[in-house]
Amino acid sequence: MNPTPQPKPQCIACNRTAEQIPLITLDYQNQKFSICPQHLPLLIHEPKSLIGKLPGAEAMEPAVHKD
Ligand SMILES: [Zn+2]
Repeated sequence: MNPTPQPKPQCIACNRTAEQIPLITLDYQNQKFSICPQHLPLLIHEPKSLIGKLPGAEAMEPAVHKD
């Protein structure tokens, strides 16, 4: 029996794989998600733009800059 192959990690925003761009792994809801450095700011500042790509993104609040 072969183990189920893991899906290739790819950026949740642009779907590029680690062969194309460095990926940052996100540990979230007992799952692994990956995002590239180019789209990491989306997760921080515009999480709602990831609705449909990351579960629960609609409930995530953007980080607020406090000076
Ligand atoms: Zn990306």
